[in-house]
Amino acid sequence: MTTTKRVHNFGAGPAALPLAVLEQVQAELLDFSGTGMSVMETSHRSKAFGQVMEEAEADLRTLLGLSDDHAVLFLQGGASLQFSMVPANLRVGRASADYVVTGRWSQAAFKEADKSGSARAVGSTEPSFDRIPAQGEIDFDPEAAYVHFTSNNTIYGTQWSGEPEPPSGVPLVCDASSDVLSRPLDISRYGVLYAGAQKNLGPAGIAVVVVRKDLLERTPGGLPALLDYRLMAEKRSLYNTPPTFAVYVVGQVLKWLLDLGGLTEIGKRNEAKAALLYDAIDGSGGFYRGHAQPDSRSRMNVTFRLATEDLEKEFLKEAGPADLAGLKGHRSVGGLRASIYNACPGESVQALGDFMADGPRRRGGAG
Ligand SMILES: *Cc1c(COP(=O)(O)O)cnc(C)c1O
Repeated sequence: MTTTKRVHNFGAGPAALPLAVLEQVQAELLDFSGTGMSVMETSHRSKAFGQVMEEAEADLRTLLGLSDDHAVLFLQGGASLQFSMVPANLRVGRASADYVVTGRWSQAAFKEADKSGSARAVGSTEPSFDRIPAQGEIDFDPEAAYVHFTSNNTIYGTQWSGEPEPPSGVPLVCDASSDVLSRPLDISRYGVLYAGAQKNLGPAGIAVVVVRKDLLERTPGGLPALLDYRLMAEKRSLYNTPPTFAVYVVGQVLKWLLDLGGLTEIGKRNEAKAALLYDAIDGSGGFYRGHAQPDSRSRMNVTFRLATEDLEKEFLKEAGPADLAGLKGHRSVGGLRASIYNACPGESVQALGDFMADGPRRRGGAG
């Protein structure tokens, strides 16, 4: 057990990791699995590391209920490289791609696709980005190469409760960077699901990509090797040296999730954590105002404001000594944001809820 002091970490990403995982990593840092070396010092072609990759993939398959219809890739370049890889691999011929634009990240994904070919922004909730559009608001192209959406909008704090429904035969592509494995989902609805690891899966430096295998047939010839889904799938993500340490830590996080009961259990915990903070907002008599419309609220990123920027500054100033870290809102929207991903413990959320409940009293001059 560590005796190091740890704060309540509400950072948006790279974000908190489960303490049990960090302790496990620490315990085997100098001698991994009897090899007499760190996993960082081990060949990516070694038997020991091969097992790390295999177990990580198998555990991800168990958690998501993946069948053999989907391939699992561990790639570098973060979620942002997927903004380029998705159109490069899936948008063949003259087809266009539809992007449901619900926040800064989906906008970024759209812009990348727009640079390299034909793309349409559909169902945009710009400029406030405070909600998820209804199915009927989205003007889908029945001939689109795919429909891309962002399941959780990290910056604005909105989240889809299900998936948009693309026209029949059009694959669904999802950037799930900030809510992957946070609740049960029906993976059979997804053509591609990708996530940068540093919010809900592990450390920065890796993205997990799940691709339906029939879509790999679309990959055109002549792509740079590292952008080629089909090649990466053939080589089982070992075309070149993968970020071995990041893969290993992601593997430990997946085991932690399985041990605690998988997606159903983490989904319940996440729902309870989010409810605690939204109750604090809704019960504050207007002291706090949530950014997202109630039916679009995220269970991962709780965004809120106070009446003035000065009050927000004071909130942050007082949060520090209470060991509440990472609460500043994204620079593009301001305000406050509590990121409460899978690894953020209930006790941390409780501590923040108590601190928030005490806010009006602190401002009332009683303190
Ligand atoms: C953080 C984030 C990204 C960017 O991830 P990188 O790994 O830094 O490229 C993309 N999409 C969403 C939804 C995010 O939350």
